[in-house]
Amino acid sequence: MKPHFDQNKIDSVKSLILSSKRIVITTHYKPDGDALGSSLGLWAYLKSLNIHADVVLPSEFPNFLKWMHGSSETIDFSKTPHEAAELINQADLLFCLDFNDPTRTEGMSDLLNKSTAKKIMIDHHLAPKDFCDYTFSFPSIGSTCELIVHFIEALDGISLITMDSAACLYAGIMTDTGSFRFSSVTAETHRVVGILLNTGMRNDFVHEAVYDTSSEDRLRFLGHVLLNNMFVLNDHKAVYFLCTKDDMKRFNHQSGDLEGIVNYGLSIDGIKMAVLFSERDGIIKISFRSKGDYSVKDLAEKHFEGGGHKNAAGGKSNLTLEETIQKFKTILKENNHA
Ligand code: 5GP
Ligand code: MN
Repeated sequence: MKPHFDQNKIDSVKSLILSSKRIVITTHYKPDGDALGSSLGLWAYLKSLNIHADVVLPSEFPNFLKWMHGSSETIDFSKTPHEAAELINQADLLFCLDFNDPTRTEGMSDLLNKSTAKKIMIDHHLAPKDFCDYTFSFPSIGSTCELIVHFIEALDGISLITMDSAACLYAGIMTDTGSFRFSSVTAETHRVVGILLNTGMRNDFVHEAVYDTSSEDRLRFLGHVLLNNMFVLNDHKAVYFLCTKDDMKRFNHQSGDLEGIVNYGLSIDGIKMAVLFSERDGIIKISFRSKGDYSVKDLAEKHFEGGGHKNAAGGKSNLTLEETIQKFKTILKENNHA
């Protein structure tokens, strides 16, 4: 299905873009392929209109996205907070991509809340918070990158999409749809991908750059987690994985190394939910995935200070790893999840 971008809103946004002096594009904490791809896709589009924008990220992006054109020009709030804050404070237009609530930018939330810039949200998470002047929220669409192509199309700018920016946008669609396999993929998604491929971009390069650039350590870490740290709860059709700090140290953990591990749980016949608990500084980060009707978004929201989508969500816990797992198991029992 094609998302409907209201023409009046698009006209106002067009004038805003043309009249703004300082544009900042931002996205969620721990930017993934969709977050960084959509930010750089929009950045490159503005650039081809001769409009300068800065991409300000709340935190580092994983190494396997370093090939993205423009990624080296992004500003990382966690590394250079003053520079990032100055750009946000001085911005007169702020794009909020791939998130629906300022808290998803963690340490940058205050800056966003205080900013007097006009704000435009383009996102696909359910139940967007009302903090933007223009909200383009389409939860049924598989990725924000797909939405950026629709947005550029509504602005009559398809011919300005370059090969390099097409690769960034393709990467976001690919990663957020599990390589075009989730039910969120539609004929419209493939039409958009067709537009991107027509720029001459190399889809095979993108797949390779994202999926075939693991370090040896990362692959061995995956092997270790699957062999030793995977627990199957057949009664609940659930699987959970643990990644302890010690494991991460042992396998020389790099940013992005945990990406995708949780999905292996769903490849077991009959399993409907997979969860990954990873030990961070003073906190347990949790990734949830499900198949079918069971909403891990509700689970994450209700019990683990998180959210996301029905079949892919995240959250956290301030308890110890053992206590967090105990809590998770208790919730499954109480909900009689099966
Ligand atoms: P992941 O497991 O890949 O970190 O996240 C899966 C999905 O859940 C993403 O779409 C992301 O937007 C959402 N998500 C992850 N962590 C959080 C969180 O702490 N809070 C909220 N609201 N959503 C999250
Ligand atoms: Mn996304």
